Amino acid sequence: MKTLMTCPCGEQIRGKDEDELVELTQAHLSAEHPGREYDRDQILFMAL
Ligand SMILES: [Zn+2]
Repeated sequence: MKTLMTCPCGEQIRGKDEDELVELTQAHLSAEHPGREYDRDQILFMAL
């Protein structure tokens, strides 16, 4: 299971599971990178 995502801006996002990781990553994107959106598959592809 993937739980760690490093955003291209250097921010590390960690969730307790994939669902939370996707949620937190999307929240980070909308807060810090408006207009940049990734769907679940793209996030999990980049996650560790
Ligand atoms: Zn970022």
